[in-house]
Amino acid sequence: MRVNVVGCSPAWPNPGGAQSGYLVEEDGRRLLLDCGPGVLPRLRRFEQPWPRLDAIVITHFHLDHWGDVVPWAFGGLFGAGREVEPPELWLPHGGRQTLHGLDPVLYANAILEHFPVQEYEEETPFVAAGFELVAYRMLHYALESYGLLVSDGDRTLAYSADSAPCPGLIHLARRADLFLCEATLAQPEQGIRGHLTWDEAREAHETAGSQRLVIIHRPDELPLPEGVERAYDGLEIDV
Ligand SMILES: [Zn+2]
Repeated sequence: MRVNVVGCSPAWPNPGGAQSGYLVEEDGRRLLLDCGPGVLPRLRRFEQPWPRLDAIVITHFHLDHWGDVVPWAFGGLFGAGREVEPPELWLPHGGRQTLHGLDPVLYANAILEHFPVQEYEEETPFVAAGFELVAYRMLHYALESYGLLVSDGDRTLAYSADSAPCPGLIHLARRADLFLCEATLAQPEQGIRGHLTWDEAREAHETAGSQRLVIIHRPDELPLPEGVERAYDGLEIDV
């Protein structure tokens, strides 16, 4: 399978960057992991009139991971996406209810109207776009957030989304061929944790024994040691 980094900015955009969006492709099947602000316009630059995907999976309800689902629904209902079959939209358990709650400010019911919405459960395998996925609970402040393990039956991709050090992160990355791991921080946060430093990302990678580590969700202004692979928008990786 091939991963295309559509956007990998942290909670604020890097210069010219899109927020979280990772396109996984194999044999014409197309799966998008998260859909943050900037992801839809980047996909539209390369696909006219509107992106054709099989499924989108959202890891959690921080805006930088799902914000472009709202305009995606608008475009699908009223704009250039009207002629295109909408992808399945997979949300964490309880996601429909979360969207209903956001309707008064975001018109989020448009999402439920446009997309065939499904909900996934923690550590319960599900199939999206023909890939097998398992969601592991991450430690991300008080918010329910999941890391995703994606398999094509042969190769595996682990995507941390947002997480502090936690057992779920190790389970997720165990023996992954590719580990897309966040490293948002320069220093560990005080109090309740939600993100990783670079040292913590490397430690998770080494403990889990994943094959290849690529750092994501890192502010451009924070350096990394020489030789460490750092994602950038437009990067393509064969897994
Ligand atoms: Zn987050």
